[in-house]
Amino acid sequence: MESNPDISSSFSGLLLAEPLLMAVNKLGLEKPTPVQMQAIPLAMEHKDLLVSAETGSGKTAAFLLPTLHHLISLPSTKFGTRALILAPTRELARQTFTQCQHLIEFTSLKVGLVTGGDDFKHQQGIIRRNAEIIISTPGRLLELIEQESPDFSHLEVLILDEADRMLDMGFSEDVLTIAERCNAQRQTLLFSATLTHYGVIKIADKILKNHKVVALNTLYDRHNNIEQQIVLADDNEHKQKLLAWLLLNETYDKALVFTNTRIKADELRGPLRGQKLRVGVLHGEMDQKDRNRMMELFRDGEVNIMIATDLAARGLDVKGINLVINFDIPRNGIDYIHRIGRTGRVDELGLTVALIKATEWNLMAGIERFLKQKFKRRNIKELEGKYKGPKKLKASGKAAGSKKKMEPKKVAADKVKVRQRDKKNIGKRRVPSDRPASND
Ligand code: AMP
Repeated sequence: MESNPDISSSFSGLLLAEPLLMAVNKLGLEKPTPVQMQAIPLAMEHKDLLVSAETGSGKTAAFLLPTLHHLISLPSTKFGTRALILAPTRELARQTFTQCQHLIEFTSLKVGLVTGGDDFKHQQGIIRRNAEIIISTPGRLLELIEQESPDFSHLEVLILDEADRMLDMGFSEDVLTIAERCNAQRQTLLFSATLTHYGVIKIADKILKNHKVVALNTLYDRHNNIEQQIVLADDNEHKQKLLAWLLLNETYDKALVFTNTRIKADELRGPLRGQKLRVGVLHGEMDQKDRNRMMELFRDGEVNIMIATDLAARGLDVKGINLVINFDIPRNGIDYIHRIGRTGRVDELGLTVALIKATEWNLMAGIERFLKQKFKRRNIKELEGKYKGPKKLKASGKAAGSKKKMEPKKVAADKVKVRQRDKKNIGKRRVPSDRPASND
């Protein structure tokens, strides 16, 4: 058999069902776009996905193809809609409908379009005729749910397209109500132009399960309603001064300060209270009663600054948080998104500031790459430090030559230590090789 060197970046390399490959061919699509390359294999594993991709990136086929593949390869005998696609506007719903019609040309699948402005009776008919795929806008679908109750109890895939726009248009409650009507075992694919959107993170928290993230949007994320800044710091002491300055000088209703450890969270409280700031602390070691009380104080505004760890802040839903400060940079991009997603309401701009020491630069650069966004560098004149960032940067944005070379003496000393340790351990019981060496 002849091997095709380009198979891995072709539609056939994605192992899509034959009728879909025929349709793709007929449409003249030669090879998958980046979002299709990344999202299709994950979606075909039936994983929940949160995908950031702009209009024009090929995102529609990125969710249609794996969904159609699933419907074709696992036929169902059950009655009711199998895949539901929600779009913010009639125009987008219609475009998606047209693309879907093209892609199902060589299959027996049926697709229905249900949007406002079209005849209600006709649309009730579409639902009744049992189209496997329904493409709809949330408002009209809810009307139908109220009147006709379409059956989504066997729904296999729910797709929210342009979720950020849908939420900006005020459909958040409608989307949640619709999702609640859907089979809980379904797969959910959430597409949004941006991941750093308050509403999107909240809705992802609520309706996705163990989801994977595919981040593909551009550097200049026009939908972003969270301004992201970094301030460079020399050390923790400098950070504490910067933190106090920000909390005393920024304009905000409520502020959330994140640390990576509960010890640090506790440590920060005293000095801030000393500055007459109204500060609370929330972390996982506190008992539930104290945590609830702290949350109440924050909600009521008795304290307007909360220092929290990631775990404690998950699911934290308090109105009026418009400043988030990362005292420590989080360990990964997903935690970063969850943190900053606590600010920037739909109709207002949120501000997040990360305080970055030299040892945190690379972690920060990794998060920038993950988000495909650059943070804005800010100087606080009153507290200007010595650290100005790495002298040289790699293409990845990380510091060049930042790995410290060990001095020869230290290498030799380390080798001796290892030899001595090995000698001590001779004859001691070994962990069997089929068991993990350590679970702690
Ligand atoms: P979308 O981002 O889904 O709005 O798609 C934008 C346009 O790209 C649509 O006209 C699609 O038909 C087209 N398109 C989708 N996938 C591909 C592909 N793999 N190659 C070329 N064009 C594509």
